[in-house]
Amino acid sequence: MSDVSKIFGSLVFNDATMKARLPKETYKALKKTINEGKLLDLSVANVVANAMKDWAIEKGATHYTHWFQPMTGITAEKHDSFISPNGNGEVIMEFSGKELIKGEPDASSFPSGGLRATFEARGYTAWDPTSFAFIKDGTLCIPTAFCSYGGETLDKKTPLLRSMEVVNKQALRILKLFGSDATRVTTTVGPEQEYFLIDKALYEKRKDLIYTGRTLFGAKPPKGQELEDHYFGQIKPRIAAYMKELDEELWKLGILAKTKHNEVAPAQHELAPIFSTTNIATDHNQLTMEMMKKIALRHNLVCLLHEKPFAGVNGSGKHNNWSISTNTGVNLLEPGSTPAENAQFLLFLVAVIKAVDTHQDLMRISCASAGNDHRLGANEAPPAIISMFLGSELTDILESIESGTKYSSNPAAQMTLGVDVLPTFPKDATDRNRTSPFAFTGNKFEFRMLGSTFSISGPNIVLNTIVADVLSDFADILEGAADFTSALNELIKNTIKEHKRIISNGNNYSEEWPVEAAKRGLLNLKSTPEALPLFISEKNIELFKKHGIFSAHEVHSRYEILLENYVKTINIEALTMIEMVRKDILPAVVCYIKELSTTAATAKSISASVDCEFEVEMVTKLSSLSNVLYKNLVALDETLLNAKNIEDSLELAQYYNKTVFTAMQELRAVADEIETLVGEKYWPYPTYGDLLFRV
Ligand code: ADP
Ligand code: MG
Repeated sequence: MSDVSKIFGSLVFNDATMKARLPKETYKALKKTINEGKLLDLSVANVVANAMKDWAIEKGATHYTHWFQPMTGITAEKHDSFISPNGNGEVIMEFSGKELIKGEPDASSFPSGGLRATFEARGYTAWDPTSFAFIKDGTLCIPTAFCSYGGETLDKKTPLLRSMEVVNKQALRILKLFGSDATRVTTTVGPEQEYFLIDKALYEKRKDLIYTGRTLFGAKPPKGQELEDHYFGQIKPRIAAYMKELDEELWKLGILAKTKHNEVAPAQHELAPIFSTTNIATDHNQLTMEMMKKIALRHNLVCLLHEKPFAGVNGSGKHNNWSISTNTGVNLLEPGSTPAENAQFLLFLVAVIKAVDTHQDLMRISCASAGNDHRLGANEAPPAIISMFLGSELTDILESIESGTKYSSNPAAQMTLGVDVLPTFPKDATDRNRTSPFAFTGNKFEFRMLGSTFSISGPNIVLNTIVADVLSDFADILEGAADFTSALNELIKNTIKEHKRIISNGNNYSEEWPVEAAKRGLLNLKSTPEALPLFISEKNIELFKKHGIFSAHEVHSRYEILLENYVKTINIEALTMIEMVRKDILPAVVCYIKELSTTAATAKSISASVDCEFEVEMVTKLSSLSNVLYKNLVALDETLLNAKNIEDSLELAQYYNKTVFTAMQELRAVADEIETLVGEKYWPYPTYGDLLFRV
């Protein structure tokens, strides 16, 4: 094992490197930009660029790229080399400040949801100096935001940075009222990432995995996850070697990879980093996913990040642990030790409660995708209903505040805030609830609905914006109050009263919960096409406009992109199924039937008394099943043809959800039954058993 402290951040142009390599004045100017969001002027950028280039070349880099996060959900890069001719037939290595701070990729092929006409192909990328440059595969990568020439955002980073800024602004207003000397507030995130590893040779034999990232067919193996022997189980040597290399590569990139373990499903694992500022956590999570895939190949493995690679075993998600901190080192979601601190904590807590209740739709939408639809509500992940878990102790405290009664575990104390004694708060919620979509875990919230392939930016844009919006309302009320303490008490009490319906400490997987949730008036948006239309509601457009996160136009474009993406995903899956059945599965059945028939005919020709019961029964059964399979194939094909007549994008998404997807399930059911009957050497694909247990 290499010396971790030596390799950590060795491929990052981080603060220590900047300090060592930049002239003092330049370093100071750059720090100012980073800390205060100031604009970087060109003369500073020139010096930084030159130092960055020299450093990168020493590390073996020959190229640079603006690394950005378009609406595809993955990252994009276009590499340019540092070379520049010097007129004597030779080259020098150059990198200017202009090239550092601004790039102009031809962006016509990135999804824009109608924001950019294709003739206006230009977009530009701008350096986000709060995220350090790094070296990946011999290329200096500069984290950038991506906009159209009209200034509309075309990426996932710009609105995220904006939403963090809004939290900063509104939270500072509140903190000022409590006499805090904080000057900056940031949201923090630690995303736990789940993934599957399977053997590369087996992967390559499955068109469904290659084209769609998940299996579209596959009978249940004799063993699944029922023994629960994989969760936190011993890590196999091949997997351990992979995890070790992954850790090392992530550490070099300055990513705080911390925890690794086996997950519930066979072949499923998890990696969690130590949390960091939200935009850094987002960049790092994108890099982590990329490295997971890349390093797997070096071990003859393939890393599957799809939300549901296998039916019948758990899929993969991402837990977005989220909190808010000040530059004075205070975690605003950490209960304090004095009554005043606890009043402040309670105010932030009820702000989150109100935000989540008011904007359940946005929380749900931020986790909506064709892949994640397989998980939400399927008893392996939180249901599609948004609710919050606070634990019984904190809930009791809120209830006593609301009713003005005594808190049971501290009967001496009357529940008034900011003045008298408040009970000691539960520091660590011991009663964990794994079924909750949004759980308070002692000093942070864990948003558990995210799909494993997701960029975490979308959910965090929503979280930041909705919480900032409530904080801004709270600040309006409190700033104008004649008596701060009584206004604060009133505000906390009323907020609990109005929004407590969102709190659910019970089992969210139970059959009773959807019934109870409906009674409470909570939304239950079961699928992506059901959830997405709410994105463009007046409430939401006003919210994003008010805080300068998205214009109405930008919300609409993102809505269109999400719908389009949903339809395209299912369309590719349907086409893949059709190809697999037509080209591989039906021919395999035919061969097996032929083998059985020939065997039976030959046997009978030797002696008419041979009864060939097995062959005859199988031929009969398989012939009839393959008839049904073929019929279902034709039916699926027809649903796709009919889709061509639908022009409205929402209607089309609904059609894919209801009609195409149903036809796919019907096709799969028959194919999976056939798989259990056909001889192994005839079956064209590695089975679930092979994929899940032969790693
Ligand atoms: P569990 O599996 O029990 O949910 P883990 O230890 O796997 O817990 O993950 C917890 C995650 O929460 C880690 O990434 C951790 O860094 C992160 N975390 C801890 N404190 C904060 C915080 N204040 N803000 C954001 N994330 C946090
Ligand atoms: Mg967790």
